Amino acid sequence: MNQYYQQSIGMLLCLVISSCFGTQPVNAEDTHNLQQEFQQIHRLQAQLPFSQQFQLRNVQVGTEGLILSINGNPQISTTRVANPDRVILDLQSTEVPAWLHNSTVPINRYGIRQIRVAQFQKSPAIARLVLDLSNPNPVGWQSSFDGGRGILLLRPVGTQTSPVPVATLPVSNNPVNQPSSNQPPTIDGLSFNGYGQLVIQASRTITYRSSNSPETNTYSFTIPATRISSQLRRPILGANSPIEQIRLNQVGDTVVVSVKTITGWQIREAPRTNAQQVALQLFSISQNTSVLPTNPRSPTAQIYGNNNGRGLIVIDPGHGGPDVGATRNGVYEKDIVLAISKQLGRILQQIGYSVVYTRTEDLDLDLEPRVQIAENAKADVFVSVHVNSLDASSSQVNGVETYYAPGASLGKNLADLVHDQIIANTGANDRGVRSARFYVIRNTSMPAILVETGYITNPSEASRLLSGSYQERLAESIARGVDSFLKSYRR
Ligand code: ZN
Repeated sequence: MNQYYQQSIGMLLCLVISSCFGTQPVNAEDTHNLQQEFQQIHRLQAQLPFSQQFQLRNVQVGTEGLILSINGNPQISTTRVANPDRVILDLQSTEVPAWLHNSTVPINRYGIRQIRVAQFQKSPAIARLVLDLSNPNPVGWQSSFDGGRGILLLRPVGTQTSPVPVATLPVSNNPVNQPSSNQPPTIDGLSFNGYGQLVIQASRTITYRSSNSPETNTYSFTIPATRISSQLRRPILGANSPIEQIRLNQVGDTVVVSVKTITGWQIREAPRTNAQQVALQLFSISQNTSVLPTNPRSPTAQIYGNNNGRGLIVIDPGHGGPDVGATRNGVYEKDIVLAISKQLGRILQQIGYSVVYTRTEDLDLDLEPRVQIAENAKADVFVSVHVNSLDASSSQVNGVETYYAPGASLGKNLADLVHDQIIANTGANDRGVRSARFYVIRNTSMPAILVETGYITNPSEASRLLSGSYQERLAESIARGVDSFLKSYRR
């Protein structure tokens, strides 16, 4: 009963919101984390056609409602989630500035306690607003965009103190776009998200069966009681794409989606967080197993430098082998980060530290052995080095981000010290110290950071990242930050 009550309220709210926004309701589906778990963020470059990109500049509360400063009127999808009660608004094609990312805006009005803001997905960009509700009763929202002021106003409609009977649903002036329950859900498109996943998007909740055919490198999904949308969106597969072919077939009232990968790549289903989507993680199978640690559960690695007890740093150059990481114009993240990492190791040894690399060659290494190398080495500090990227429409974005695992206070101290050095010594744009659930920093037990040293998709930053002297300056800055951290915090 209580469960049903909660759900009907949730659906009611979704209907109200979606009518106002003109989007279809989304089933309440819990995404536990504001920042979805992203293990392999640049495993794959999404190569998508250019679409308009919006910039969310601020989120505020006013007498009229919630005020989003934004340079356009993005499509918004909504999800109602219970326990704790919250509403998730996803603004499509919308970028969040560094200072606003992972921030919390206190509201205490309109039944909303606070709003959490994050760049939920990078490419294509999705800004996520999580409205933490203080009042479990539904409130309808009507959106209106004022292009002149650059303001998207979300106005509360009919604040309620008791559940709203369906007959008195607040009426929006916007066209109501409610799905007819007689129509089957449609498969609306396939696209890459920022985590290297291929996402099959449906208009409503879908169920499916999957099967894998290793002989043909094909993963198939049979989705009953659905239709292929007449406006199906498909990704453009680049020359380097690990996907060879995507096929959709309507067989009676069933849609079959087949995804064929190139040799050396496989597909795994990502944990399902949204009943309207199926996300497929692409991963590369090692081409040359002999270069991998013989026992990936307990990899050991060579220690460089005189192991004099001053401290041991594990340096993790991201990606490697067939996993090239971020790429643009034939330049690969895996090569840049290896060069920076080797400089970093050399400098750390010069100032008296011992160093272990997770890789010193261009080889494929999964995330788990990277963590195991650090654990087995009993490292004092773990530094993962990466290069960032966005899609072509965001080539102006540049700068450095330093990440620590959520809740890791020593990790944050380390990140602050390293980040300050990088910003002071390289002149790079400061995109902030951030927390994120990257696998390698979340699963290591020592203070751990992941440095995104710059954007390969920004032409001038890309050319700096390729220069040996800039790589050395980055390495030196990271080394200084690690050194001051170990001097201050190591007992
Ligand atoms: Zn990377």
